[in-house]
Order: sequence, then structure tokens, then C-alpha cells
Amino acid sequence: MSNASGGAMALGMSERLKPIHDQVLRMIADEILPLDEEFLVEVEKGDRWELTGRQAEILEGLKAKAKERGLWNFWLTDSERGYGLSTVEYAYLAEEMGKSHLAAEVFNCSAPDTGNMEVLERYAIDDHKKRWLEPLLEGKIRSAYLMTEPDVASSDATNISFACARDGNEYVLSGEKWWASGAGDKRCALYIVMVHTPDETRTKHQQHSQILVPADSKGIEVLRPMEVYGRDDAPHGHMHIRFSDVRVPAENLLLGEGRGFEISQGRLGPGRIHHCMRAIGQAERALELMCRRSVRREAFGKPLAQLGANFDIIANCRMEIEMNRLLCLKAAWMMDQGDARAAAPWISKIKVSAPLMALKVIDEAIQLHGAQGISQDLSLSRSWQHVRTLRLADGPDAVHRRQVARAELKKYTQEKL
Ligand SMILES: Cc1cc2nc3c(=O)[nH]c(=O)nc-3n(C[C@H](O)[C@H](O)[C@H](O)COP(=O)(O)OP(=O)(O)OC[C@H]3O[C@@H](n4cnc5c(N)ncnc54)[C@H](O)[C@@H]3O)c2cc1C
Repeated sequence: MSNASGGAMALGMSERLKPIHDQVLRMIADEILPLDEEFLVEVEKGDRWELTGRQAEILEGLKAKAKERGLWNFWLTDSERGYGLSTVEYAYLAEEMGKSHLAAEVFNCSAPDTGNMEVLERYAIDDHKKRWLEPLLEGKIRSAYLMTEPDVASSDATNISFACARDGNEYVLSGEKWWASGAGDKRCALYIVMVHTPDETRTKHQQHSQILVPADSKGIEVLRPMEVYGRDDAPHGHMHIRFSDVRVPAENLLLGEGRGFEISQGRLGPGRIHHCMRAIGQAERALELMCRRSVRREAFGKPLAQLGANFDIIANCRMEIEMNRLLCLKAAWMMDQGDARAAAPWISKIKVSAPLMALKVIDEAIQLHGAQGISQDLSLSRSWQHVRTLRLADGPDAVHRRQVARAELKKYTQEKL
């Protein structure tokens, strides 16, 4: 395959990745997946928002093993501190991680921390890197990204109205944020907050800033966990948070006032594609469960696979997974070329396509499992609920479709549509 300018587009698994991929795959299958369900059962015991007892033992034990084996921070592309894998290479690992509930965190590759670490790596001053980036890279603390607000349509981030006013050497923050993923976890020490810093002399996309806020700052109140189809996702959580005159040092504002959108572009690209890679892994796992079940269980004198349209269903799922994997790898390859603007519509394409595909595959897998498919006995219903949220989180489908269409139409008109 080649790109428009004729250069080679290598989407296959590189030689250096193969042994790493093999180790990750084996650790997930042999050591992480068998503990996924036990971990989730443990969450229901004691303080659901604090990792203690057996729950902590499972997660921290797996993290220690991964770290010891050097299977850690794979997402950190182009950096001396990480593996320096390309986004294409990382895609293969993230897909494997999508097959298990715990795997992404076990390898210190989970959202929203990876995106937040990228922001700190690129834009934070040394003191802040020491205070937050180092422990995040070590997997000792967690973080959250606070953009969405209850009172404004946050899919259009120019609406963000969270107040942030300069007062001497400090900024004073007031307002509400919700759906702050990871903010429920007691280990969450840092919020990166998108705030409104209006300035008439600047453009529409220079009215916002991002600021680092310690999670234990005075004036912060975690109001409630938002629920996803009745699940609060403890101990991670998607929290509704109120800030009342929260004061942070002025140096906590990243890059400078008005540069919030610039930072978002860098943060959300990788985060979005990582979700898609893991969604492909979730679809792959669902297809595997569906196939195993359909050859093992019989009805009307035949294996389920041979009944009705089940051959077609299985074939369609396989084809759709393959198509999406290729689209995801192409988007990853575009990111590796270093032109964020050119990569953006490709990220949008996979951001719409992968969750829709995964939802379809997981739903078919649920159907083939009968009632057990939607029950607590299998990971499928949890997986479906999670993927459903990806049609909203990091921008709803419609917003990404708009990006794709605008890039397409740009070929035919000079007008900004
Ligand atoms: C599980 C989960 C985790 C999340 N985690 C985080 C997080 O960690 N941090 C954070 O800040 N936010 C997070 N979010 C919030 C998420 O990013 C927002 O919900 C999303 O950006 C949409 O904003 P909104 O809810 O205000 O919807 P709105 O902006 O009100 O949009 C609602 C609907 O309007 C329609 N719409 C909007 N724009 C267009 C358009 N251009 N064309 C056509 N229709 C359109 C779409 O149907 C869209 O779904 C999370 C959400 C979920 C569900």
C-alpha cells in the first residue's frame, strides 16, 4: 500500500514489535483475563472508590509484574522514556489490551492518564513534571481531564464557560464539570481543566486555557458519580464536580492564556485513536466468544453456527473487524507522519467507525449467547456499555462526521463550510 505521494505505508507488525506483542498477548491471556472478573467482584466490597485488600493486590500485583518485565508505558511514542514505538506499532498492543478490563492500566496505558501524561510531557514546566508526570509514569497516581460542563453543549468546546480569573499570582476557578473520567479513584491526584479566559483581542479558538489543579484543592466538591446505564464504573468513575473559588498558582496555567485549543488538539488525537484500537480488541474478543459458543452448543440437532443466518453473521463480523483494523492502522500511520492537521480527519473516520462496528459485533455475540449474553456471567454486556459511551466521549459521532465531510468537500470549494 502507498500513500497519496507514493511513499511506502507500512501497516504490518514490525519485527521489533513481534516479541513484545507476544509477551503482552500471553500476559493478558494467562494472567490478566483470569483475574478481570474477580477484580470487579471485589469492587463491590468495602469502599468502592478505594483500592484496598484483594482488589489492590490483584491490580498492583499485575502492574508490578508488567513493570518488572519492561511491559510498561508503551503509549509513550517518540520519547526516550518510553519504548519509542510508532502509533502503528502501539495499535497492535492497544488492541490486545482492549480484550481485558484491567490490561490497559496494568501496562500503564489507560485513559485518561495517557492523554494527560502527553500534555504534561509536552507543556508542563519541570516542577510540575516532577510532581505529577513522574508519579503518573510510575503508575503511582492517577489523573482526570475536565472539559465537559452540565450547562453547555460541550461537543462544541468553544461553549466552555468555566470561570478562571487571574488574581495576583493565582487563578481563581469556579464552575461545574461533569463526566470527569477517573476522578472517582482515590488515587486521582491531578485534574487538567479546560477553562474560559476571555479576551476580545483574540479569535474564537483562543478564548480558553488549560490549567493544572491538584485534586485535593480547597473548594473542590465531588458531587456524584455519573452512571452509564446504571453503572457508576467504580473505582474509576465519571464524576460531577463543583469548584467554588478554587485557587491555584498562576504557573499552573499551561502554555499561556488562550492556548487551550492548541493543547486539546495534541491531547485528544492520540486518546481518541487509543480508544478505537481497544474497541477493535473488544470486537475481536466478542467474535472469539461467539465462535466458540456457536460450535459447542447445539439446538434443533445442529451446532448454533449452522442455524439460520449465523454463518453470514460470523462472516460479516470478521469482515467488519478487518476493515476497521485497516482504517485504524491507516489513521495511526497518518499520525506517525507528524502532520496533525492531515491526520485529524483520519482519526475522526475511525472514531465514528470503530465503536459502531464493535457495538454490532458485541451485540451479535450477546445474541448468540442467549440470555447469558446480557448477564453478569460474561463480559459482553459490560463491553457493549463501554463501547456505547465511545459514541459520545471525546466528541459525538456527528461532530467527527462533520470533520470528515469538511475535509472531503475542501477538495471542491474554497469556501469554509
Ligand atoms: C463514559 C463517558 C466518559 C466521559 N469522559 C469525559 C472526560 O473524562 N472528560 C470530559 O471532559 N468529558 C468526558 N465525557 C463527556 C463527553 O466528552 C461529552 O459528553 C461529549 O463531548 C458531548 O458533549 P455533551 O454531552 O455536552 O453533548 P452536546 O454537546 O449537548 O451534544 C449532544 C448531541 O447533539 C448532537 N450534535 C452536537 N454537535 C452536532 C453536530 N455538529 N452535528 C449534528 N449533531 C450534533 C449530537 O447528537 C450530540 O450527541 C465523557 C462522556 C461519557 C459518556
